[in-house]
Amino acid sequence: MLGSMNALENRGTNTAPTDRMMERRRRQYLDALGITRWVLRPDAAEPVVVPDGTIVSAAPVALKSSPVAEVDSRAWAELETAVRGCTKCSLHATRTQTVFGVGHRQARWMFIGEAPGADEDRQGEPFVGRAGQLLNAILFAIGLKREEVYIANVLKCRPPGNRDPQPEEIGQCEPYLLRQIELIRPRLIVALGRHAAHSLLKTEVPLGKLRGQRLSYHGTPLIVTYHPAYLLRNPADKRKVWDDLCLARKVMASLTEPGEVKS
Ligand code: URA
Repeated sequence: MLGSMNALENRGTNTAPTDRMMERRRRQYLDALGITRWVLRPDAAEPVVVPDGTIVSAAPVALKSSPVAEVDSRAWAELETAVRGCTKCSLHATRTQTVFGVGHRQARWMFIGEAPGADEDRQGEPFVGRAGQLLNAILFAIGLKREEVYIANVLKCRPPGNRDPQPEEIGQCEPYLLRQIELIRPRLIVALGRHAAHSLLKTEVPLGKLRGQRLSYHGTPLIVTYHPAYLLRNPADKRKVWDDLCLARKVMASLTEPGEVKS
């Protein structure tokens, strides 16, 4: 099952796929996620589960550039320099390089994970290992491309042996993530896993109780779901992640754009 997910992920990225190929791949991703009977309805504003259980997709969301969210390139450059040179906690001594974040700096969607693993530490980009391939598949399944969202972690350096982030490491690193959120001004944040959820929400409530509902990060809608690495170990919970992301899409679809008035 996971092998098939990886095979899907690695396939067909060199040529521009036709709509039909894209649709076939989307169905394959959904099958790999354990979500069956996917029907594409291009005019749908949000994912819908029709009475027979068929899931109807939302139309892909076009990325809108907004003057409010105009990129402040100097601020980004300063932040990148600060992260690259950071020695605030002991993780700097064991890292290969910092892992800043990747994606569109005016993204409507922001996905926040825990910390770089070995692959990310080597390549300098978040979510490029097996968990990253699963995240890409999940994004694809809900009609998003990796390039149109922003992906970051709570920690910018790899904890040795992939151990859990320590509270003092989160405390030192958090301002970098908060600045990224401030610069991107995402319309919606998805917290991937317990560490992201707990550090953003300042709570110890178990993840199972946080997921499945619309929460808020300083006024920005926040959806909590399981971490892709957890899903690799517990594939039976993929359905819950799908449900969480359908909720996220629904919340996103309900938001008014800056300056827009809902009639
Ligand atoms: N897990 C994370 O939380 N982040 C990554 O970048 C990779 C794996």
